[in-house]
Amino acid sequence: MIKRNKIKNLLVDSEYGKKVTVMGWVKTFRNNRFVALSDGSCMQNIQIVLDYENLPDALLKRITTGCSISVTGLLVQSIGKGQNVEINAENIEILGDCDAEKFPLQPKKHSLEFLRENAHLRFRTNTFNAVFKIRHVLGFAVHDFFNKRGFVYMHTPIVTASDAEGAGEMFKVTTLDFDNTPRTDTGEVNFKEDFFGRAANLTVSGQLEAELGAMALGEVYTFGPTFRAENSNTTRHLAEFWMIEPEVAFADLEDNMNLAEDLLKYVIQYAITQCGDEIDFLKNRLLEEEKNKPQAERSELDLLQKLQFCLDNNFERLTYTEAIDILKASKPNQKKQFKYIIDGWGADLQSEHERFLVEKHFKKPVILTDYPKEIKSFYMRQNEDGKTVRAMDILFPGIGEIIGGSQREERLDILINRMNEMNIPQDELYWYLDLRKFGTAPHAGFGLGFERLVLFVTGMTNIRDVIPFPRFPKNAEF
Ligand code: ATP
Ligand code: MN
Repeated sequence: MIKRNKIKNLLVDSEYGKKVTVMGWVKTFRNNRFVALSDGSCMQNIQIVLDYENLPDALLKRITTGCSISVTGLLVQSIGKGQNVEINAENIEILGDCDAEKFPLQPKKHSLEFLRENAHLRFRTNTFNAVFKIRHVLGFAVHDFFNKRGFVYMHTPIVTASDAEGAGEMFKVTTLDFDNTPRTDTGEVNFKEDFFGRAANLTVSGQLEAELGAMALGEVYTFGPTFRAENSNTTRHLAEFWMIEPEVAFADLEDNMNLAEDLLKYVIQYAITQCGDEIDFLKNRLLEEEKNKPQAERSELDLLQKLQFCLDNNFERLTYTEAIDILKASKPNQKKQFKYIIDGWGADLQSEHERFLVEKHFKKPVILTDYPKEIKSFYMRQNEDGKTVRAMDILFPGIGEIIGGSQREERLDILINRMNEMNIPQDELYWYLDLRKFGTAPHAGFGLGFERLVLFVTGMTNIRDVIPFPRFPKNAEF
């Protein structure tokens, strides 16, 4: 059994003189004497002081940035500045050498692009240590929030046969031989001979299945990977991302908005409380970056203030129609600065419009409701006006859409009409329609993109930097 002390604990330990063993990776080695060692348990390194005069040269040479070592020694109060404690090494053992010439991570600042190309090693940097710690804590907070409210965590399938939701942007799952696909009499691929006996895909959302759970368990949520084969090479889209999808029986759109706002505020507060060091580090990193920008482009709030601001203010709630009026009259629309000019009701909002509303007009998170039915999914509940549906999108600064949700259509006849209008085959979704036949009830839910949440809380700007191994068009390395 390997016994070691975690650096996180030692840094706040004041039992000076006791013998400790730490294991970790060398960040820097100065003057043949001082090692800054990290074991990943916290943002800070611990300082190891070597009695170099009594250590063989061959050993000292092997202590390089990146190598892993085990050190046993005495925990002592530090006289140097920058740390309270340090370790006077009595015994040092190299666990793994690191070829300093070839090691990509030198003790200097690397660009995020460079680190993305070295995603297998980027965990070793302070930035990614902080990002993935926050990602972990946010995931934990999501479960904590729903558990406290009595929601049931439900695992919806990753392989699905229904493609009603994601027509055209789904990844196929098959064991058929591509060079010799079985064909039907009419020449189409015969999926009856495929593994599942029918065409199958990776899920784009667990919502439809979560609705089945909600209509019995009352309140459920999913938290799992989802896949979209959309060719969007943006800083906000991944081909594989994680989504949180609560679904609640006996709830309307207002309940849905309240739940979403409560959830976001809870998990952000949780991160602030649990990840003070990490957020502080990322805040300073951003401030450092902003120094290179012209004054006008610098943000008014730092990262922590931005998070706090989001907690202290009610999200602005308005309808799509009201938003269109604001956008039509807005300066960038009048001056044709938007790439997509808003000239009438019915247009889908682009991220430039969403960000204008949030960042320039209201200067706080916004919930837009009651979108035109033409630009939303078949399952959203129709309003009396016959034109709009009970949809809601939550828009965040720097992100745009972070949540999309709706009150669901619980009336069978209206749902069937809408499916016919949109050419969605009923037989494939008979189980979804059964819900409306056997004890239907009003219900609502939404999808929160987990990486977009992590983007917001970490202040990172590219979604590829908040998931350990990003998948996007032409990239599935590591
Ligand atoms: P967008 O308009 O930004 O492409 P969407 O309307 O397609 O998003 P929904 O189907 O409503 O997204 O999915 C719910 C949530 O999942 C979104 O609000 C967003 O937070 C997240 N999301 C959607 N697509 C992606 C993606 N490709 N990568 C990462 N997160 C995503
Ligand atoms: Mn959406």
